[in-house]
Amino acid sequence: MPIPLFDAATPVRAIEARVRAALDAVLADGAYVLGPHVEGFERAFAQYVGAGHAIGVANGTEAITIALRALGVGPGDDVVVPSFTFYASAEAIPPTGARPVFCDVDPETFVVTPEAVRAALTPATKAVVAVHLFGNVAPVGEIEALGVPVVEDAAQAAGSRAAGGARTGALGTLATFSFYPSKNLGAFGDGGAITTSDAALAETARTLRFHGSRDGSTYELVGYNSRLDALQAAILHAQLPELDRWCEGRRVAGRRYAQRLEGVVGLPRPTAGSDPAWGLYVVRDREPDALADALAAERIGARGYYRTPVHRQPALAGLAPPAELPGTEEAARTHLAIPMGAALGDEEVDAVAAAIRAARR
Ligand SMILES: *Cc1c(COP(=O)(O)O)cnc(C)c1O
Repeated sequence: MPIPLFDAATPVRAIEARVRAALDAVLADGAYVLGPHVEGFERAFAQYVGAGHAIGVANGTEAITIALRALGVGPGDDVVVPSFTFYASAEAIPPTGARPVFCDVDPETFVVTPEAVRAALTPATKAVVAVHLFGNVAPVGEIEALGVPVVEDAAQAAGSRAAGGARTGALGTLATFSFYPSKNLGAFGDGGAITTSDAALAETARTLRFHGSRDGSTYELVGYNSRLDALQAAILHAQLPELDRWCEGRRVAGRRYAQRLEGVVGLPRPTAGSDPAWGLYVVRDREPDALADALAAERIGARGYYRTPVHRQPALAGLAPPAELPGTEEAARTHLAIPMGAALGDEEVDAVAAAIRAARR
């Protein structure tokens, strides 16, 4: 049997009846844009992450732009962001008018360190986008202790926990999520959310997602048309009670990989005290693309997602950082995502691990 890199459909099959009932409820009342289905999911999701407020938006990229705008980020400001991340983490910054300033990551955790952020601070720094890459948890508290607000990019880390047990989404001044189908909590299309415990920031983000208007007749800000669809909200709400169980499935698979692959490839290291719900399970190897080819021959999915770091992508190359980013370069060169998911079974983990051991013998 082939083992895909991820499988968004299988976990949902077990709750298909509940998801269909949620779709029927939206069809029955016809509230397709904002309204009770979106509000119901926003309340449940805020409670899940442990934040005071959740604001549903169209996708995880606009969630970052709107969260930064809510913080007052604009022209003349700098925003620190890691270069080893999905392109959207940085792409979301220029639409605010601010400039992305790239910082390094620790190649063993794949996330930013307080030292790397400190090295990238300028007098114009207004915010830091701290990415919880692959589900690992960035040290948000230590970064905010430097005196700069953090927007958590939690797109890959719904359900991950920091030291002390708090969930991603409740660690920074604001946080953003993507509900793209392959994420830990996935819609049947695009979706996103912003979470915060600051009522004023929540109100501004809510206003920005609806054309900068509170009441639909007065437009206070130049905003966005960026709303989470009611259908997607209903689908997400139906799935939310499963999220912790799904995250546990990811953790179990991660522990089993770690037992079987210790000393064979570089293993992802959870940050101090954290308990990641691995959105992607990413190992390191000297020749990751050759390893991916060997796995493909066994019909096992594997992929290096971010071989070219963001600061060397054509659209943002003009913003290249003044200093080298050695952790970023190493992570970009060596990383390889191998199959991970809520429903990944022991036999599948064992088959993937055996194929990797065989290729690296
Ligand atoms: C998926 C993702 C995003 C963007 O989310 P979309 O919903 O696809 O716009 C942003 N940052 C990271 C780290 C992601 O993985």
